[in-house]
Amino acid sequence: PAESAPDASTSKRLTVLSGPSGVGKSTVVKELRRAHPEIWLSISATTRAPRPGETDGVEYHFLTADEFDHMAASGALLEWAEFAGNRYGTPSAPVLERLEKGLPVLLEIDLQGARQVRANLDDALLVFLAPPTWEELVRRLNGRGTEPPDVVQRRLDTARIELAAEKEFDVTLTNTSVRDVCRELLALMAAPTM
Ligand code: 5GP
Repeated sequence: PAESAPDASTSKRLTVLSGPSGVGKSTVVKELRRAHPEIWLSISATTRAPRPGETDGVEYHFLTADEFDHMAASGALLEWAEFAGNRYGTPSAPVLERLEKGLPVLLEIDLQGARQVRANLDDALLVFLAPPTWEELVRRLNGRGTEPPDVVQRRLDTARIELAAEKEFDVTLTNTSVRDVCRELLALMAAPTM
């Protein structure tokens, strides 16, 4: 079927992309923004150390534990979670500012964060990114090669639990092809909200 290009920039929706670590959330988001630079993505705060190639203020705001705790305690985070020994959170102000202006927002966050967003903003659209198979997820988590074995193991333990959370989400997209997932995600973001 012919496709008219959906225009995510006209959506007023908060879309949350979540799913197990290693499923390819950040690859999907990167590809989506390469094709659609107008899509605004929240930049999270984290206590994790930057990976090679990551820049403060681009992939994340890299904070000390004290700085992060101060943000959380002062209510400056829309949601936050502890994941594999580090803390991650979404700064509220830029997100709420955009939503108030009727502009779309995309969050790429873990499952615990997705639950908090659901509790705080009930018209958020929660999208679960699923791996094609468990074996594929294990392969991807091992293949990243940037993490020591104990960290990979912790992420796998978390992923196993996270897969069961699919039923809490509005939509599941299976990451068989990054291009297909991007197209589907874009269509969801552009879909009119009630
Ligand atoms: P990574 O360390 O691989 O960049 O991210 C680890 C996990 O943290 C991923 O599942 C990612 O989606 C999640 N994450 C990133 N930013 C946030 C955030 O602001 N809040 C929450 N709850 N999770 C986040």
